[in-house]
Amino acid sequence: MDVAVIGGSVAGLQAALTLGRARRQVLLFDDGRARNRAASHVHNYLGALEVSPDELLARGRQQVAEYGVEVRDHRVEDVSFEDDGFVVDGVRVRAVVLATGLWDELPDVPGVADGWGQSVVACPHCHGWEVRDQPLVQLGLRGAPDRSVARALLLSRWSDDVVLCTDGDALTGTQLDRLTVAGVKVRTERVAAVASGVRFVGGESLAAWRVFVVVRQHQQSDLAERLGCQVTDGAVVVDEGGRTTVPGVYAVGTTAAPTLLAIGAAGHASTVAVAVHGDLLESDLGGGW
Ligand SMILES: Cc1cc2nc3c(=O)[nH]c(=O)nc-3n(C[C@H](O)[C@H](O)[C@H](O)COP(=O)(O)OP(=O)(O)OC[C@H]3O[C@@H](n4cnc5c(N)ncnc54)[C@H](O)[C@@H]3O)c2cc1C
Repeated sequence: MDVAVIGGSVAGLQAALTLGRARRQVLLFDDGRARNRAASHVHNYLGALEVSPDELLARGRQQVAEYGVEVRDHRVEDVSFEDDGFVVDGVRVRAVVLATGLWDELPDVPGVADGWGQSVVACPHCHGWEVRDQPLVQLGLRGAPDRSVARALLLSRWSDDVVLCTDGDALTGTQLDRLTVAGVKVRTERVAAVASGVRFVGGESLAAWRVFVVVRQHQQSDLAERLGCQVTDGAVVVDEGGRTTVPGVYAVGTTAAPTLLAIGAAGHASTVAVAVHGDLLESDLGGGW
């Protein structure tokens, strides 16, 4: 087997597609936790209109099967080194592509987790168009007012009715001035719950079509670290070909670049797969990694 791809969301499937079409033998593992699985649609993905995350991945799986990619539906717990390759799930492979993605740590406010992906979202580029010109709340991340303000300023381009709820954080004069210029209103009371908007601790409610939140992101898997790859600021460090600091191990999509939207993650994976194929070719011809 040439390559094990670990993670089968958009990045992993695209890497497998590009490698399969390059006539590489590919084994792909996935344990079904695509980051956007709570959302009803994938937006801002060229050619994918009104497609759910599940449907997009199901189509991807059908596509990669046509090029001989084998898919195993389970979590990879360990990867070991053997000779000049690796052993993944008992199978010897020449290269490993990590497409294990991220998970989102949500603000610890009642109602946020229940509404996640539907009434509660994070990214205006993913979900802003659908609620343009409507009343929107940007719920700040308590203790991180800079990030909260930056997100509210971003969201203000989709609607002129945006309220930043700082959940108890005070803002500086400069921050308030910038929000005023952008037309963003500010509420600094503590938030008791999120439900069709927010409810403040005092009991008052503020209705909104969507509540946008600020999340903290974490790697879904520690395989990169356990393989010895450098991980900095929550991202696996790679070069332009997706090569990690460990020869033969690559990282694609949000595993390597956390801010990528779905199509960017897939695009990155395609670029890296081309590099993997080229490196395998060099190795075929007697070169090393
Ligand atoms: C609620 C929400 C909605 C979003 N909506 C949009 C949108 O509309 N448009 C858009 O462009 N972007 C959207 N995004 C962002 C989008 O989800 C990401 O850009 C995209 O999912 C990144 O894909 P990825 O392949 O890099 O990683 P992920 O989607 O995170 O996938 C990683 C995969 O690896 C698997 N995995 C992890 N560890 C292992 C292991 N050890 N063994 C086997 N499998 C493993 C997981 O199960 C998962 O399937 C949204 C994000 C969220 C949170």
